[in-house]
Amino acid sequence: MSPRNSLESIISTDKIEQRVAELAREVERDYSGRELVVVSVLGGSVIFLADLVRKINLPMRIDTVSVSSYTGKAVAPRGLKVLKTFSEDVRGKHVLLIDDIIDTGGTLAAVMEEVRAMEPVSLKTCVFLSKKKERNIDVVPDYVGFEVEDLFVVGYGLDYDGMYRNLPYVAVLHVT
Ligand code: 5GP
Ligand code: MG
Repeated sequence: MSPRNSLESIISTDKIEQRVAELAREVERDYSGRELVVVSVLGGSVIFLADLVRKINLPMRIDTVSVSSYTGKAVAPRGLKVLKTFSEDVRGKHVLLIDDIIDTGGTLAAVMEEVRAMEPVSLKTCVFLSKKKERNIDVVPDYVGFEVEDLFVVGYGLDYDGMYRNLPYVAVLHVT
């Protein structure tokens, strides 16, 4: 990290663990008796995905998609590009889409459109973090880990220029 960048922890490892367990219970309850296809948006959601799915006691397949939105720096997105599409056939399946954070909603909306085109029986979304802000895009995630202020956050999978994904907590990154 640049010596002048600083991290301000906002969600502790304990709180994350507790909340992820709660989310897993909610998903189990809502999908009771069903089989799931969990689709994770790479790479920010991998840590969340790994922790969450191991707490969900339901039959499931796991797939990943890759979407490039941010350029890697704390700047506005420069358009969306789907880099890897589904390998699982989700037609007739219950799909739970997982992402690290919803900001403008552009990423989730784009991936949801792709999933819907494959005619799943149901589609729900689960994000680890949701930024408190007005969204022009009308996407409301079905499951939200935590709401956070509209600041740039890192850790627990979220990166800044590829770094900080391995932090076991969530922090606001102050870039100076
Ligand atoms: P959206 O398409 O909703 O604007 O942005 C979603 C994607 O942008 C997330 O999957 C994540 O990769 C990235 N993103 C949005 N806000 C943040 C943030 O505060 N920190 C980091 N590290 N990534 C973010
Ligand atoms: Mg992402």
